[in-house]
Order: sequence, then C-alpha cells, then structure tokens
Amino acid sequence: MAARKPLIAGNWKMHGRRADLAEAAALQAAAGGALAKIDVLICPPAPYIEAAIAAVGASGVIVGAQDCSPVAADAARTGEVSAGMLSDVGARYVIVGHSERRALLGETDAVVRQKAEAAAAAGLAPIVCVGETQAEREAGQAATVVAGQVRASTPDTMQGLVVAYEPVWAIGGARTPTLEEIAEIHAVVRKQLAARYGAAGEAVRVLYGGSVNPKNAAEIFAVEGVDGALVGRACLKASDFSAIINGHPAAL
Ligand code: PEP
Repeated sequence: MAARKPLIAGNWKMHGRRADLAEAAALQAAAGGALAKIDVLICPPAPYIEAAIAAVGASGVIVGAQDCSPVAADAARTGEVSAGMLSDVGARYVIVGHSERRALLGETDAVVRQKAEAAAAAGLAPIVCVGETQAEREAGQAATVVAGQVRASTPDTMQGLVVAYEPVWAIGGARTPTLEEIAEIHAVVRKQLAARYGAAGEAVRVLYGGSVNPKNAAEIFAVEGVDGALVGRACLKASDFSAIINGHPAAL
C-alpha cells in the first residue's frame, strides 16, 4: 500500500471577503516547497470559490467547498448548491457533516452520507467530519460515537474519500485532546474504514481537526494514523496556515 499523501485543509467557515483572497494568494510564497509534498486545500465560502481558484493560480493550492446539497440532480431546492455546481466552478473537495452543521442545522448521519455520495458522484472528494461532543466523551462514549458516525456517514464509493476526526469540544476552543486521545480515536476510525471498505480503506486519509495551530501542529502530525489536519481559525492568515503546513514532517 502506497503511503498516504498528507492533506492539510483550511475551512474558512463564514469568514472572509474578496480582499482576504490575498491570504490565499500569499500561501505559495509562505508555504513554498511544502506544496509539492503535501496537498494543501482551502475551503472558502461558496461565492468566493472561483475567485479563490484565480487567486491561488498555479501555486498547487487546491480549492474546495464547505458543504453541498444531498440532492445530486438539478432540483427545486432554493438556496442549495449541488456538488455538480461546485465541481463545475472548479472545486475539488467538499467538507460534509461538519459538527456546526450537525448541531445547528440538525444534519443526521444519513444526510451527511447522501451529501458524500452526491459529492463522489460529481467527482469531488468528500471530507466527512465525525467527532464526539464533550458530554459523549465524559460519558466514555467517544469511540462508540465516532465508530457509528464513520459507519453511517461515509459513502459507499470511497473514491477520494477523506475522514476528519474533529472532537466537537476541541473546535474553536482553547483545548486540544491529548496526543494519546487523538491516536486512540484515529485507530477507531481506521478500523471502521477497514470494516467498511476492506484493504482498500487503507487509502482513505484521516485528518485531525480542532484547535490546530502553529504551536501544536508538529506534535499532532507526528501522531500515529494522523494524515493531516482540518484547520479552522488558524487557516485565515497565510502566516499561521503556512506555519502549520511547514510543521508537517513531509515539509522538512
Ligand atoms: C473546524 O471547525 O473544523 C476547526 C477545526 O476549527 P478550529 O481549528 O478553529 O478549532
């Protein structure tokens, strides 16, 4: 089995304006040679995808989306954006099932899976987010919850699939899990991927997400089973995001 290429993805969430695309453009100079060895992805808000693609130019930085409709075909779905449309404007990845959408918009595993299937059908690589809440962790259910989410949210087609383990309590907070906790849940995800896809599941990249920053990135990247990161706050400035990228052993 070939080694999995690291992937470091930045989720802009609902932040940024046209002027902030300069940060995306600055990544080439800031991340330099790392871009040849690591897949670096930015996911700006949907209205800026095309402009972001123009801003990153031939740097190697990849542009993706933060969500897509679970409905693959054109349909009467006011406000929705299909995976096919995202692909049409040049996005290559799409995040699905982020915990903010699961919690605030009630997205279930079944909906997340439909979105992942729609993404795969449109030729996009889905990044399926999973992760336990603080209450679930305190109740000793982290492994069970995450295993269940992997089983129920991942698409049947594993082409391009990425899974992001993001403990909900670590997102946007001051606290990151211990390295042992990260390793433990990554092993759980990997086991579920093997059960779901057999030996081929080894090709699926598993990212860690939740308060990754320039200071803790290198030690998180060194954890067994961590193939990269999904980064929120610290991806908005090229200086921080490139420091995270350059903290990956593949960049050295
Ligand atoms: C996220 O929301 O996916 C995330 C990882 O956010 P942050 O890095 O800000 O914790």
